[in-house]
Amino acid sequence: MPVSPRRRSVVVDVGGVKVGGTHPVVVQSMTNTDTEDIAATVNQVQELARAGSELIRITVNTEKAAAAVPKIADTLRAFGCTVPLVGDFHYNGHILLKKYPACARALAKYRINPGNVNIGKKHDDNFRTMVEAAIEYDRPVRIGVNWGSLDQALLTRLMDENAQSPEPKEASEVMHEAIVQSALLSAEAAERHGLGRDRIIISAKVSNVQDLVAVYRELARRSDYPLHLGLTEAGLGSKGIVATTAALSILLQEGIGDTIRASLTPLPNGDRTEEVLVCQQILQALGIRSFSPQVAACPGCGRTTSTFFQDMADQIQTYLREQMPVWQSRYPGVEEMKVAVMGCIVNGPGESKHADIGISLPGTFEEPVAPVYVDGKLRVTLRGDAIVAEFVELLNSYVDTRYGAQALVTETAEPIIR
Ligand code: SF4
Repeated sequence: MPVSPRRRSVVVDVGGVKVGGTHPVVVQSMTNTDTEDIAATVNQVQELARAGSELIRITVNTEKAAAAVPKIADTLRAFGCTVPLVGDFHYNGHILLKKYPACARALAKYRINPGNVNIGKKHDDNFRTMVEAAIEYDRPVRIGVNWGSLDQALLTRLMDENAQSPEPKEASEVMHEAIVQSALLSAEAAERHGLGRDRIIISAKVSNVQDLVAVYRELARRSDYPLHLGLTEAGLGSKGIVATTAALSILLQEGIGDTIRASLTPLPNGDRTEEVLVCQQILQALGIRSFSPQVAACPGCGRTTSTFFQDMADQIQTYLREQMPVWQSRYPGVEEMKVAVMGCIVNGPGESKHADIGISLPGTFEEPVAPVYVDGKLRVTLRGDAIVAEFVELLNSYVDTRYGAQALVTETAEPIIR
């Protein structure tokens, strides 16, 4: 079944990155450094940008953090890193954006959480102040509802109305409605305060897959704003990756979601760029966008008695990813390439033939040779201790021939047996 087309008519420009309409789904991420620590934040933004993050959010929670933002932006620019920075504001955003104009100017977008703009009577004033800052500095906003900080007054009102209804709904349905209304009413209020419709992105994140799907289907049905998609507090390790993938895949398949983030909890000293790679893999697996050549590798079984081919698959995947910063400009289209690294003769040659270039390693008790297939035909049979290096050589040559500027339609070479 093909992926449904996205139907948002509104397009928002975030520092030159277009979100919405028919523009490609944008991958974004968020730093977990203390924004007051300029060096640490600059380093992590660069890591995330190198991994392919197209928008990067940083928290702006204190006066020192707000003062650090323009320095972070200047340092990044000096290093040649131009990724747009998004400011994440909670509670005191109205104060910080007013008091630190250089911060407001350095950011490409402001995230406003309507549930905690402030409490009590000042709520709308503070929300309005943030929207006015967006108008003054000509910046878009994301109205980002999170069920962990949902507007309690709105939820209470809807719960009361539901209780008095002759046919009350399930509490979960009322919760979904409160989340959707919080986002849409806040977006309407922002427009009333003068912010252009094309300056608003909305999100409404929850941490349960089915709740997220229900909420976003409703948001997509009832509005035209570009949607920032993400499962909040997805969690650690495989649990976080699987839950995020499940939730985002259902919605992306339905054409819902214009920019995505994977809210993974990294292990202590873990790699923050994992959240970027997960988003890219989701989009590539669904056939929505391609980011780097994909390696098809078999899981291995009793027919292989060493981890040699697993190591090789890992080395090849890592090699391909590391080449992409250079390859993507030199070899247009290389991100679509398919590479196979297979463990034995059972499925090895077949899978290799389906790939652009593939190698089938010898399983236990098989003759110690590794046939390499290029464009579905046996190209060479490798043997000996230097199989990985020789395969990488063939890979480089294939990429250059097929995707390089000098790429020509060439006749298929005759098989070579080494
Ligand atoms: S290709 Fe061979 S080694 Fe790999 S899973 Fe299949 S049978 Fe096992």
